[in-house]
Amino acid sequence: MRSIKINGVWTCSASMHEKKVARKTIQWCIKRLGLSRFRKLNIRMDIKALKDCWGSCEEGNKDRSYIITVDSGQSIRNYVRTIIHEMVHVKQYVRNEWTGDGEKEAEKLEEKLTDELWKENIL
Ligand SMILES: [Zn+2]
Repeated sequence: MRSIKINGVWTCSASMHEKKVARKTIQWCIKRLGLSRFRKLNIRMDIKALKDCWGSCEEGNKDRSYIITVDSGQSIRNYVRTIIHEMVHVKQYVRNEWTGDGEKEAEKLEEKLTDELWKENIL
């Protein structure tokens, strides 16, 4: 059995709606970015007020675990775009395909994939 875990650790500033949207967006990205075949993918997402950026992505302590942090004060579309951006970084970690700091690819894909997801109307 495939064991993809998407563990949410949420601050109280995250609404039910934000959590739902995050979960769906992350699941969509896992499929779209070809990550479904990786076992033991563990993604934790925190929503909190950030000062200098919209989001960040770092590796966790365990194998293939990643922590995404997303700024809470965004419009829903920017919020989704930020999650997608950070999921591109997750893909770069998992598949070990960084080019430079990875920002070029993440910035290129975030808008394109946000449009795609929006058209599918799944949120
Ligand atoms: Zn980035």
